[in-house]
Amino acid sequence: MEDLKIPLKKYFGFNHFKGDQEQIIQSVLKGNDTFVIMPTGGGKSLTYQLPALIQEGTAIIISPLIALMKNQVDALRGFVTNDSVAHYLNSSLSRGDAKRVKEDLVSGVTKILFVAPESLNKQDNVDFFKSLKISFVAVDEAHCISEWGHDFRPEYRRIREMIKQIDDTIPIMALTATATPKVQIDIQKNLGMTGADIYKASFNRPNLYYEVLPKIQPEKQIIKYIKENLGKSGIIYCLSRKKVEEVAETLQVNGISALPYHAGMEASRRARYQDMFLMEDVDIIVATIAFGMGIDKPDVRFVMHYDIPKSLEGYYQETGRAGRDGGEGRCIAYYDYKDIEKLEKFMAGKPVAEQEVGKQLLYEVVSYAETAMSRRKFLLHYFGEDWDETKAGKEQLDDNITNPKERVEGQKELQHLLQVVSDLKGQFKTKQIVEVLIGTESPTIKANRLVKNKHFASGKDKSEKFWMAAIRQAYVNNFIGKKIEEYGTLYVTDKGNDYIEKPYSFLFIVDHDYSELMKGGGSVVSKGVAAGDQELFARLKDLRKKMGKQKKLPPFVIFQDPSLQDMATQYPMTMEELHNIIGVGQGKARKFGRPFIELIEAYVKEKEIDRPEDVVIKQIANKSAAKIAIIQGIDKKIPLRDLAKTRSLTDDEFIIELENIVASGTKVNIDYYLDDVLDEDYQEEIIEYFLEAESDSVEDALAELGEDDYTLEEIRLMRIKFMSNYAL
Ligand code: ADP
Ligand code: MG
Repeated sequence: MEDLKIPLKKYFGFNHFKGDQEQIIQSVLKGNDTFVIMPTGGGKSLTYQLPALIQEGTAIIISPLIALMKNQVDALRGFVTNDSVAHYLNSSLSRGDAKRVKEDLVSGVTKILFVAPESLNKQDNVDFFKSLKISFVAVDEAHCISEWGHDFRPEYRRIREMIKQIDDTIPIMALTATATPKVQIDIQKNLGMTGADIYKASFNRPNLYYEVLPKIQPEKQIIKYIKENLGKSGIIYCLSRKKVEEVAETLQVNGISALPYHAGMEASRRARYQDMFLMEDVDIIVATIAFGMGIDKPDVRFVMHYDIPKSLEGYYQETGRAGRDGGEGRCIAYYDYKDIEKLEKFMAGKPVAEQEVGKQLLYEVVSYAETAMSRRKFLLHYFGEDWDETKAGKEQLDDNITNPKERVEGQKELQHLLQVVSDLKGQFKTKQIVEVLIGTESPTIKANRLVKNKHFASGKDKSEKFWMAAIRQAYVNNFIGKKIEEYGTLYVTDKGNDYIEKPYSFLFIVDHDYSELMKGGGSVVSKGVAAGDQELFARLKDLRKKMGKQKKLPPFVIFQDPSLQDMATQYPMTMEELHNIIGVGQGKARKFGRPFIELIEAYVKEKEIDRPEDVVIKQIANKSAAKIAIIQGIDKKIPLRDLAKTRSLTDDEFIIELENIVASGTKVNIDYYLDDVLDEDYQEEIIEYFLEAESDSVEDALAELGEDDYTLEEIRLMRIKFMSNYAL
């Protein structure tokens, strides 16, 4: 055996191997097929770079992302004096560059060549590689091979075929940071390396704390957390670009140092934000999953999932970016079953096979979210690793361990469940087993004639939820297995069969019921809630009346009732806080706000009120793109009918949009339209009416002003003018 410490020091400057690196490299040098499953940051790259550098010939490394290839080549060139040692070949190279790369390859100086799977699928490249001495082929991010992985890429499935054409005897190496047992088998089969030496490192990240919270008011929950953890670095993942923008903006408006990041942004801006995060010029990045690949910031203190992820593989990867330095790493996911339904809907347009996979992956996410057993245990089991929470020591673990739910004796039920699975001869998935137990006559159950089965409805004294949780726990504790080939089909393991014979005490934990939790969640920002402090409300109304008299304006022009009610709930005492109140924009706050916050402050002092400690969050003005376009169109005096038409809005819908724009605090000047359709005298009459009116009701106005002279539409438009001129 070679002493690998010497090249390790020479090329990489390290004194020791990390984990199994040395054994892995030995396996590659022996010419064995080698499979490396190691979490991100574990040091996988070195396990192909080092043998490539010291072996005869060139190693081909297949890697999915052009940016990653470039990074790796740059890094490698930093270690060695000759730039020709490492190259990449992909669609980003010019013809001239590609030619130079090929020249280096022919001359034999290049030891490592990164290739995109697409480039490997090109026949000229394959023919060219045939003429070279290839030391081995390494497939990085090998989970892309499996459609059961979270990141399936069809190009990856043709890799084996291409290698065969180049030279069937080349040793193959596969590397990945996430592989469920199913994905692992797919990879080995597809690459024809079922006899490979497998090196699987533990996926346990002892310093990460896993937590799932009901998604009641996520912005508020997130802001509260960040304010309590000021200065810490964090990543917040959202599923859509739009949500990324919105959440980042909401955080910014609330004084938090945050930036957005998603693939729809200009590359230069993205790179700048990423750098700012690395350099700690910004604390928080709000991102789609486009962010994080190849990013290596050691002290990310929390990773949040604003939206529940589509798979546990993705979730594990993303949370894995927390606490790389071994320090604190909090992983919080916000869960609402509605998000799952949305994801299912998005899948509807895809091919059936793909939908099936997507649903299975989502089902695992739901199980993870709803389980009340150790989340760490659940996650690790998902990746094929058994973890004993009772031997965990001082690890931070997860929310379910910190706040355990009650356990109930489940010996009888577990035995019953195992008997059912056993008698059904391992042909059914969780859903059907549960249907049999509670007695649901679903199409599948009928088709399999299970209604007549002796177990049908034998567990109907317990709920569907109970049995789902029971199956999960039986699975995670290895009484039940899932057949890998037919993903999800349940069978009884040897341990399970022993249990049927000789049962013993087994405590079940009942799942969380997030839909119940969601119902209980109070709402502070939504409209029309809590009557608030009635005495304060009355005083605020008095003030409004007084001010109205002074300014010769009707009270509703100053603040409307819901705004006063909200003030009587939240006690705003600064201009900033006042902006958070329903229906109070900047203009209104400036124009009318001062006396109100002064009154509230005096009131709070007088009554010694403890204001709610709760964070009060500022909402970003709800100006959708459509609204902005309308505002801009009006500024340019585009005929209102045209503005409505280009947006396919009816007149009524268009006026509603305008009313909403004004209600959320933006003035609009539609005089150019009104002056065309309504005489000046008529306009004045309406304005005068509103100046005297008790309420802003347009129906009252129409009754008073007379239907013969005015239409409801005209009055609504005039009210928009009136509110723009007097209330904002
Ligand atoms: P992976 O591909 O498994 O996510 P990388 O190959 O990118 O991980 O390596 C992660 C980090 O670990 C890199 O910064 C690398 O330089 C470092 N590293 C790898 N091997 C060693 C070692 N033997 N000693 C110290 N650092 C190492
Ligand atoms: Mg890597």
